[in-house]
Amino acid sequence: MKILVPVKRVVDYNVKVRVKPDQSGVDLANVKMSMNPFCEIAVEEAIRLKEKGVASEIIAVSVGPAQAQETIRTALAMGADRGILVQTDEAVEPLAVAKILKSIVDAETPDVVLLGKQAIDGDNNQTGQMLAALLDWPQGTFASEVAVEGGKVNVTREIDGGLQTVALELPAVITTDLRLNEPRYASLPNIMKAKRKPIDTKTPDDFGVDITPRLETVKVTEPAKREAGVKVDSVAELVAKLKDEAGVI
Ligand code: AMP
Repeated sequence: MKILVPVKRVVDYNVKVRVKPDQSGVDLANVKMSMNPFCEIAVEEAIRLKEKGVASEIIAVSVGPAQAQETIRTALAMGADRGILVQTDEAVEPLAVAKILKSIVDAETPDVVLLGKQAIDGDNNQTGQMLAALLDWPQGTFASEVAVEGGKVNVTREIDGGLQTVALELPAVITTDLRLNEPRYASLPNIMKAKRKPIDTKTPDDFGVDITPRLETVKVTEPAKREAGVKVDSVAELVAKLKDEAGVI
């Protein structure tokens, strides 16, 4: 079984992002970038399926600037077999990413595309669903458990108030939720080995995909600052403050 894992290069989740003074977006100058955490979970799951003997090959794909090669190398160091970089310096919206992925799927014919449920930069939560629609494949989104049996994959999904298990016919699209697994750290020998694994470089034009944005960002603002809290000495004081100052009771 072949698994395709799209991995996105995003601002590291530990970075406190700053909005540009002109409110056109987030300042990316000198900011640490890493693999999107949900994509790490997808890579980890693919590797576990390979370790179980279910998967035979894992291909990591990234659409982004030349530096997205580092993100692919991280996936290779974790255990993916080869990579495809679709290089562009433009911001690529989920529909265009999904169209590029569809072309790669047509060429590579994987049995599963395992994506993150969302990228933590744009929080779009769209690419996997759009790809499933373009391919006309079944989708199991927000997976907290993935079990391949015969020609089917059972995906347990985290939904409001509980868990739902869906059985999908392969080939299928799966997107990962936070509790699916804990991604491994790449060991030094594997980081060295990953340097020799192949990465194919393409451009969106190679796939005939127009990546012109369809959306316009009107403005980006920081969340309102939270005021510091105060300690109260008694329940009576708390109730008085809620009544007289906050006016909520
Ligand atoms: P999004 O729909 O943007 O929230 O992203 C959901 C998932 O789609 C990510 O976790 C990735 O697996 C995949 N994805 C989105 N954008 C890219 C990209 N530029 N390159 C590779 N994978 C991507």
